[in-house]
Amino acid sequence: MRIRIITLFPEMFDGPFGASIVSRATRDGLVEITTHQLRDYAKDKHRTVDDTPYGGGAGMVMKPDTLGDAVDDLKQQAANSGEPDPRVILMSPQGRRLDQRVAGEFSTHGSLIIVCGRYEGVDERFIEACVDEEISIGDYVISGGEPAAIVLVDALTRLIPGALGSQDSAPSDSFATGLDGKLQGPVYTRPPEWDGREVPEILLSGDHARLEKWRKEQSDARTGERRPDLLNQQNEYED
Ligand code: SAH
Repeated sequence: MRIRIITLFPEMFDGPFGASIVSRATRDGLVEITTHQLRDYAKDKHRTVDDTPYGGGAGMVMKPDTLGDAVDDLKQQAANSGEPDPRVILMSPQGRRLDQRVAGEFSTHGSLIIVCGRYEGVDERFIEACVDEEISIGDYVISGGEPAAIVLVDALTRLIPGALGSQDSAPSDSFATGLDGKLQGPVYTRPPEWDGREVPEILLSGDHARLEKWRKEQSDARTGERRPDLLNQQNEYED
C-alpha cells in the first residue's frame, strides 16, 4: 500500500506515524507513507498557496493550480513506479463520513493520494477536476486536514492484513465484521479485585463456550444501550 499526503505541515505527521502500529507497518513494508509540501509546487517566490475568496468573505482559499500541479506530479510518480492509479482523497467536513467500512475499503486500494485542506478550504474547481472522493472524520470542523488524514491512515493501516500483532486483534474490535459491526463489550485485566470491584467470574472460569456467549451478550447489550443505530446495520455486515 502506498500513501502520499499533500500538506502545508508535513511535520505534523512525524509523531503519529513514527510510533506504534503505523510505524511497525511501515517498517514491515506493508505501507509506505510520504508527505509532500504543497509550497514546493508554488510558482512565485513567496511560495503562495492561497488567495482571498472571490465575492468576499472571511479567510483564504487554497489555489486550484498549485494543488492540481501537486496531484499531477504525484500521479506521475506513481505511474513511474508501476503502481495502480492512485485514488485522490480530499479531507473535508463535507465528505462521506469515515467509518470502519470506509476504512476497510481504502485499506484494499494499492495507492492513495490524500490532500489536506487549510484555511476556508480549497477552490471548488480543484475538487471537480482532481478529487475522487471527499472524506470527513465527523460532523465538526477542525483547523486543517492533517489530523483527519492521520485518523484515516491509522484506521486503514490497522486493517491491512499483517499490520496488527497477536496482542491486538482487529476482528474483536468495535465495528469489526467479527462483531457484526457492533460495539465490543467490557474488558478486564489483573488484579482480579480492585477498588472493591471483582472481575466477572466467567472470565476466570476457563469455559470458552460460555465465555464466547457472554461476550456476544455483552456486545449486544452495550450496542443496544449506546448505539442502537448499529443494530440496524447488522445485515449489511453479514453478506
Ligand atoms: N470552510 C470549510 C471548513 C474548512 S476547515 C467548511 O465550512 O466546510 C479547513 C480544512 O480542515 C478543510 O479544508 C479540511 O481539509 C479540514 N477539515 C476540517 N474539518 C474536517 C473534518 N471533519 N473531516 C475532515 N477534514 C476536515
